[in-house]
Amino acid sequence: MPGGEARCSICGRTIEGDETVLLKMRYPKRKGFTEIKAYLKNEARFVCEKCFGERWTERD
Ligand SMILES: [Zn+2]
Repeated sequence: MPGGEARCSICGRTIEGDETVLLKMRYPKRKGFTEIKAYLKNEARFVCEKCFGERWTERD
């Protein structure tokens, strides 16, 4: 995630604020939940709404 920007791991598009995304990650084995935030920076991959498909994007 260079420059702190989140990008879709499929299409490479920058994830915009307030956008619905799928967060794909491996749950840390030994770390507690409080460390997940830091973990996300290194391990998380985002998939944008468009790539993820319609059935998971219900907003209301
Ligand atoms: Zn995408």
